[in-house]
Amino acid sequence: MKVFNTVKDLQHHLGSIKASPKGFVPTMGALHKGHFSLIEKSLLECPLTTVSIFVNPTQFNDKNDLERYPRTPQKDLSLLSEILRTDDAVFIPPVEEVYPAGLKIENYDFGKLDKVMEGIYRPGHFNGVAQVVSRLFDIVKPDRAYFGQKDFQQLVIVRELVRKKGLPVKIIGCPIVREPDGLAMSSRNILLEPSLREKAGIIFKTLSDASEMLKDSDIPEIKEFVASTINSTPGFKLEYFEIVDENELQPVSRKNSMLEDKKYFGCIAVWAGKIRLIDNIEFRHPYSKKVH
Ligand code: AMP
Repeated sequence: MKVFNTVKDLQHHLGSIKASPKGFVPTMGALHKGHFSLIEKSLLECPLTTVSIFVNPTQFNDKNDLERYPRTPQKDLSLLSEILRTDDAVFIPPVEEVYPAGLKIENYDFGKLDKVMEGIYRPGHFNGVAQVVSRLFDIVKPDRAYFGQKDFQQLVIVRELVRKKGLPVKIIGCPIVREPDGLAMSSRNILLEPSLREKAGIIFKTLSDASEMLKDSDIPEIKEFVASTINSTPGFKLEYFEIVDENELQPVSRKNSMLEDKKYFGCIAVWAGKIRLIDNIEFRHPYSKKVH
């Protein structure tokens, strides 16, 4: 693999290689198996893959979160060196390379898509995500880019960004990789206090139980179950739980407003001590005939 810190050197390298399609996996580092599932898919599908490691300051609405975000560049590079091929690239730039002085930075509005869930609780977050993704796409010029369904709303918004700007990149969503107890892998998991980490499987267990409840219960009852289960686990506090459709992300409040031919996801944000975790799971309409 080749490691680059500057846009110029990365672009010189990528431009010197005739390979198609070119794959891209943007990350914020502290790599785990969730990231590697995306990277492996790109390696299978693309003869040239770029992985970026960049903790993007513009998407953090909470300064403390940015400061304590895990950074393990040496370990990341060593893990990447085990799987990347000779010409695959790692882009690990300083902030000034991504946002040089004078760079025109757009502001984005995704309409209804960023006015729910993460958009409410993390004001400005998706504007920052769109800025960095847009800039990284401009630098790397990938044919395919790989994103995790773990960040479900982000995936929908990135697809919308690409559609709005008419970018020639295919966005590929990849399934959530979980720990043995069901906790969705996340770079932030290493920040969890051990006693909370031990109990954090409750998030996925609650989502799974809630999705089963859809057979016999209506949504207010399911929401009540999720809130009471999470909030009665010491150290855990529910921030939101919504069941939304996969395209418009609009919360549904009654089961009879769910359409059989649409896919729905239950999305959750939970505070475990001082660490905020998100997860989601598909909620199948009890009468859905749609093949998944
Ligand atoms: P991050 O480094 O957290 O910005 O994540 C980089 C990419 O990896 C994003 O597209 C995430 O959705 C994806 N990702 C993070 N955790 C997981 C996971 N547990 N399973 C699948 N993809 C993930």
